[in-house]
Amino acid sequence: MTRNTGCRGEETLYNAPVVHHGSDIVHRKGMKLGIFGGTFNPIHFGHLRVAEEVREAAGLDRIIFIPSGTPPLKTENIAAARQRLAMTQLAIKKNPCFEMLDIECRRRQKSYTTKTLERLRELYPDDRLFFMLGIDAFLDIPNWHRPDVLVRQTDFLVLSRPGFRFIDLSSSPYLSIPRPLLRKLDARTLRYHTALLAGGRTATLLPVSPVAISATDIRSRAAQRKSIKYLLPAGVESYIISENLYVSAKKRHRTIERGCR
Ligand code: ATP
Repeated sequence: MTRNTGCRGEETLYNAPVVHHGSDIVHRKGMKLGIFGGTFNPIHFGHLRVAEEVREAAGLDRIIFIPSGTPPLKTENIAAARQRLAMTQLAIKKNPCFEMLDIECRRRQKSYTTKTLERLRELYPDDRLFFMLGIDAFLDIPNWHRPDVLVRQTDFLVLSRPGFRFIDLSSSPYLSIPRPLLRKLDARTLRYHTALLAGGRTATLLPVSPVAISATDIRSRAAQRKSIKYLLPAGVESYIISENLYVSAKKRHRTIERGCR
């Protein structure tokens, strides 16, 4: 891994040479794409900061944010897909390396990651895809749709997240990494570790700066009319207020005091 400037990779943990390009987003063949799926309900600085750090550390050319459609596992207090797409768009618009795809939201059926990865393979046949997710989400994979297929479909970037430790991954059925190595990642004395998954794909475990923000906490603050400032981009905060999101049905009837939430 090494420093890279702007929207391009140099010598990276994958050691593949990357052609430099400007910020005018021309999609060329052979790019390294970080795929960042999530409910993004709402998108926040935790997502954005880790995406930026991973892009830099792994020398990714682009990060593609994919808000989920109807999440199969989450049903409570979910903003409409169009609203989560709008918030994601607002959040990423100033970063030329960040893109968004609405493929999951457009799908009528439930949004399963295996289907998304099949579609991405069609969309980007010449690019290398890295599916990015936090330790919490990686641990949850056994509960996803067709997990054994999923772990054979893509390479993974597994990112640290406050409240979860790499050592917790010792219980994952998909990884067998010596515990001392996991402890080193938790202690940040090891910058990353790449492990082989069954089927030949890789999972790179990568500690990133801890940003203890969660969408659950933001929704709870919003519901209590507490401030959500500085937890997410200002444009997303304004959108949440103007669309009256995450306020309980009872409170939704009351007048919103704009700017005071
Ligand atoms: P919720 O609180 O509603 O469960 P969330 O904040 O976990 O939401 P998601 O949209 O579910 O956000 O997360 C998408 C991905 O981003 C997951 O892989 C998750 O692990 C990762 N992620 C979310 N917040 C952080 C954070 N603060 N640091 C690192 N990774 C994060």
